[in-house]
Formats: sequence, C-alpha cells, structure tokens
Amino acid sequence: MNFAELERRDAADPLAELRNHFVIPKNTVYLDGNSLGLLTHATQRRVADVTGQQWGQDGISSWNQHGWVHLPRTVGDKLAPIIGAQPGQVICCDSISVNLFKALSAAFTVLDARGESRRARKQVLSTADNFPTDLYMVQGLQQLVGAENCELVLAEEAELLANLAHHITAETAIVMLTEVNFRSGRRLPMAEIIQQAHAVGAVVIVDLAHSAGALPVELDEWQADFAVGCTYKYLNGGPGAPAFIYVAERHLPTVTQPLSGWFGHAQPFAFDATFAAATGIEKMLSGTPSILAMSAVDAALDAFSDVSMEQVREKSVQLAEVFLALLDESGLAGEFDCISPLDSEQRGSQLSFAHPEAYAICQALIERKVIADFRAPNYLRFGFTPLYTSFKDVGLALQRLQEIMQTRTYLEPRFQTRQAVT
Ligand SMILES: *Cc1c(COP(=O)(O)O)cnc(C)c1O
Repeated sequence: MNFAELERRDAADPLAELRNHFVIPKNTVYLDGNSLGLLTHATQRRVADVTGQQWGQDGISSWNQHGWVHLPRTVGDKLAPIIGAQPGQVICCDSISVNLFKALSAAFTVLDARGESRRARKQVLSTADNFPTDLYMVQGLQQLVGAENCELVLAEEAELLANLAHHITAETAIVMLTEVNFRSGRRLPMAEIIQQAHAVGAVVIVDLAHSAGALPVELDEWQADFAVGCTYKYLNGGPGAPAFIYVAERHLPTVTQPLSGWFGHAQPFAFDATFAAATGIEKMLSGTPSILAMSAVDAALDAFSDVSMEQVREKSVQLAEVFLALLDESGLAGEFDCISPLDSEQRGSQLSFAHPEAYAICQALIERKVIADFRAPNYLRFGFTPLYTSFKDVGLALQRLQEIMQTRTYLEPRFQTRQAVT
C-alpha cells in the first residue's frame, strides 16, 4: 500500500474540500453512502434551527414565514439540476415505494389519454433482480386493478440488454427499470432503453435510487417520462428522508394519480369537498410533508451547489479503479469475485464482490471501522461517495481487509450472527 501516492492524489483532488461539509465518524472509513449517506454540518445546523427557532419559537406561522408549505417544491427544484431536469418537474415527497405506485398509476393514464386500451397494453416490464420493493409495488397495483389491466413481466437483466427489441414490444405498457442495479452496480443504458420504449409506444419509469447524486443523470435529454429516487443514499438527506418523483413537463397537464390527498389539490386551503388536482408537479403530492425530514434534505443538497455531476463521476470512477488496483496488489482478487462490471462505463458508484463468507467479512470490517455492507445471498458491497470518500480511505479499507483475510478473524463466532438490518 503506497499511502504517499494516495495522499498525493487527495492533495490534487478538486473535490477534496467537500469532505469538510460532512460529519465523518471518528477513525472511520465510510463506504456505505449507497445505503445511508453521511450527515452534513448544514443539516445538523438546519435541524437545530427548525426545532429551535422555527417550530420552537415561530410555531405554526412557520408554514408561511419559513416557507414550509413550499418545501416539497423548493427541494424538488434544488434536486432537478442534479438529475438533468428543468425545474417544475421534480417534487420531494413520500418514499420511493409510494412514489412508484403514483408513477405507475400515472403512466397508465398517459396511455389512457392516447386512447389505448389497458387490456391491449397492460404489461409492466422490469428486471427479475430489480430492488424488490419496485416489483412489490407493481404486484400491489396488479392486485388492485386486476391482472387483465396490469401485469408484471420480468426479464433477466442480461437478456434484456442483449435484445431490447425482443422484450420491449407493442404489448409493453410501462418499462420500469432501476438505472444502477443495487446488488451488482451495473448501470443500464437508459437513453437507449427509453428510445426503444418510445419507438413502440411504451412509457418509461426510471428508478434513480443508486444514481441521483452519484453520477450524471439526464432525465430531460433522455426524454424519460417518470422517475423516482431517494434522498438518503448519495444525496445524504438522512435515514428515512423523503424521496422524490419526476414527471416530464409534457405529461403534467394530463396525468392523474390515485393518492389524491389534499396537498395535491389545486387549492388545499379552500377545503373543497371535491378533489381538483393541482396543475403542476404538486399534483403528485398526497399528504402533509414531514418538515423536519425535508428540511434535512434541503440543507444536505447544499453540498452539491458548487460541483458538477461530471466531476463527481470522474472521482467516483477513479476511487473504484484505485480500489480494484489495490485489491489486485494485495493478492486477494482471486478470492473476491467481482460481480460488478469491470468496465467503469457500465457501472454505478459501487463495487460488489461475491464471497462465501461475505457476511462475516463485512462484520469484521465494521469492527475495524470500515463500513461496507452485505447483501444476500453472499455479496459484499463498497460504495464510493466522491463528496467525502478520499483516496486514502480506499487504501485504509484495503489494508484492513487484507489483515482480516490474513488472520482469518472473520471466522470468529461473533461475526457470524445476523442482525435485523444487514
Ligand atoms: C433503496 C431503494 C429503494 C427504497 O425504497 P423506499 O420505498 O424509499 O424505502 C427502492 N428502490 C431501489 C432501487 C432502491 O435502491
């Protein structure tokens, strides 16, 4: 391990200063920003202000005085440039799961508006190893409206990519895909997929859970129809922070969604008995936003205000390349089967390795203060967050991994018991 070289790279890194925005746990190498991003000092200050001054002193008048009522839109417009969207198309609310339900329902209304029969075009295409909640939400909708109106169709990711036209056909209503696979880190060619979907008249929903804040996303340029994503991974919004939903401007006038709560009403404070949807992206809202949580997201996004996603991506690729090179050097590469694409173009901001003892190794790493995570059945994931991961961090992670593997400490019984959250 040549730490002098890694420190030289940190010194030359244009993003190095951004690490100061974050609360870095003591003596810790944090490689789990793909699961829960670190806390920013700005969020810590904001939450203190929202509880101390806003809620604490200014109370209910804060809905107007501190712009609480507009926060979903304020945060949405702040997120927009990070995901390649013009403002007015993104709103912060709910979870990915709930937003997917709204997006799926709304996508069907896009087809309805074209006069297409749901029976003729009812298939929702996704990948078999998509994040399960994405598939569960389609299953829930299918149960609600009947399989004759909504039918989940799964393709193996590799087969889908090998022949898009074979899977995305005139029978496809909706293509619902996650750009970066949460297990393998594989990045799907979304522009090409959207082009194929539109060529056959299908509507596309993109899940950006492992993309937003990690790599450049171009929703407008791709002509995506809908997108969802969370803010607690690479966007550092905090545990359970509200998610976001994007609806392309061209669809906003016509789409409807069934969770038509009062915050999605054109005039929530008219208290009219009949629902009339807001005209803009606010129509995707349902109930009262969680102001504490959303304020945390709003403040966390400030860390992105002076960086381009291209710079973030460049560093992300370099961090992963250094990781792979050091793994090779350490002689461990043969033991850890990299399931992520080796071509960085085809990868998000993580590296995943299959190992029969992945769980125990992960626990032993955590004890040595290298925070990685485990995904069933036997994957060890390392996420790179260019805003706060340094090149030296990568060196330290590999050094400690090497020690754990040489001493075989991971075989000790205390590393073998599984907890509720893995
Ligand atoms: C993390 C993640 C989710 C989480 O969904 P929530 O409803 O916000 O808990 C969904 N989809 C993907 C692809 C994810 O990676």
